[in-house]
Amino acid sequence: VTDLHPDRLLPADPATRHVARALYHEIADLPLVAVHGHVEASMLAADQPFGDPAGLLVTNDHYVLRVLHSVGVPLEQLGRVAASEGPAPEESERTAEPRAVWRLLCRHWGAFRATSTRLWLEHELTTLFGVELPLTEAAADDTYDVIAACLARDDFRPQALYRRFGLEVLSTTDPPGADFAPHDALQAGGLAVVPTLRPDTLTDPTRADWAESVDGAGVTSYRGLVDHLRAERQRSAEHGAVATDHGHVRADTEDLGPVDAGRLFDRVLAAHAGAAHVGAAHAGASGAEHYDAERLGAQLLTANAIMALDDGLVMQLHTGVRRDHDRGAAARYGSDVGADFPIAASFTDSLRALLGRCGNEPGFRLVVFTVDETVYSREIAPLASYWPGLYVGAPWWFLDAPDAMARHFAATAESAGYAKLTGFVDDTRAFCSIPARHDVARRVIAAHLARLVVEHRLTEEDAAAVAADYAYHQPRSVYRIGGS
Ligand SMILES: [Zn+2]
Repeated sequence: VTDLHPDRLLPADPATRHVARALYHEIADLPLVAVHGHVEASMLAADQPFGDPAGLLVTNDHYVLRVLHSVGVPLEQLGRVAASEGPAPEESERTAEPRAVWRLLCRHWGAFRATSTRLWLEHELTTLFGVELPLTEAAADDTYDVIAACLARDDFRPQALYRRFGLEVLSTTDPPGADFAPHDALQAGGLAVVPTLRPDTLTDPTRADWAESVDGAGVTSYRGLVDHLRAERQRSAEHGAVATDHGHVRADTEDLGPVDAGRLFDRVLAAHAGAAHVGAAHAGASGAEHYDAERLGAQLLTANAIMALDDGLVMQLHTGVRRDHDRGAAARYGSDVGADFPIAASFTDSLRALLGRCGNEPGFRLVVFTVDETVYSREIAPLASYWPGLYVGAPWWFLDAPDAMARHFAATAESAGYAKLTGFVDDTRAFCSIPARHDVARRVIAAHLARLVVEHRLTEEDAAAVAADYAYHQPRSVYRIGGS
């Protein structure tokens, strides 16, 4: 087995490397706190063996799909099933044979050089499965067999891995109306898997499925929608939730009075009904209708912030992403195939209404994530350096790579301070990549802090405290894990 280099991602010059090594070793084995992500509670609760290596590590990992698609590999050759051929890509229904999918990964292993995805996969392949690196097409069947043999073992079932990974808490992401029985069962078994309400289907009226979701919830008015959201938030909190998550395209917020908000809701609902009547997708809405829909979404973000003052749930906002950019692929293969891309994001003007209403209130916490990294230094860090209720989310969705994370620290810490960062958040749907992602982040923060130590800007004691905060204590305290 080719071992990973123990000093990978640490600084090259000996003096800084020496400090970085010490910082990293202090935090390397701290428990994992995964406060935002997309692993399914039902998968963990069922605790069935993972299927084949290709399904686990390729077909359902949108980071891997993106890279392979970019070098010309069609999605169906990677195991994604076209909608016309069947429903969701269940293992039994996949058109591509898993070994063939795995061979494609091996053939294109070179395309992953220097990507974060390859760092994570190398970590998983060696530490978890004992696979020899580099992957080669000639050895593809052998590596497939090694991984498949592991996956057949009881100690590779989801709950056994959860314990082996050292996970202390894992947050899932759940739509309105979600069944929390899997969370309850896992918690009863000693695994702190907690839900996170993501009410976008009800709070983002620019979505084509908004009216249907509102109707399904039995909601007919703005007041009714807010009451429904309050109840859903409460229900998630009763099952252990510590946060909500909001995935709007823009961070725009409004603070309208009840009369204006009510009228706006009525207009947007009527426009959706009109669009459905003529059989048009909401994408074909007029400019005025789209403006109304965006404003109602902006108002509903502030409504959630106001409810957070009462229920104490931390508010997360993921914006600046154009999802499903490849409309054809989205129609054929669904979401989460890797075609989500940055758009220019803005926060200073956009968050003004929400922060003006809630940003100074004791206990209010808004965590903002973006994939537009230019906005970290221009807007997010300065805002967080003033507003007590605003926190800088961890770098996310291809910004969770070593150099991008280093740029994130450089862009935020000097103005906002480490206390206003959330600490590391892995935000993954690839369960087996969780330890690898935390390990990379721990190396990068150690490298970043080591430079400040050798430049005599931080003492080693301060750097050690920041490193431990970023890796472990800060996500716990910002997200109030255990009521902190
Ligand atoms: Zn997420």
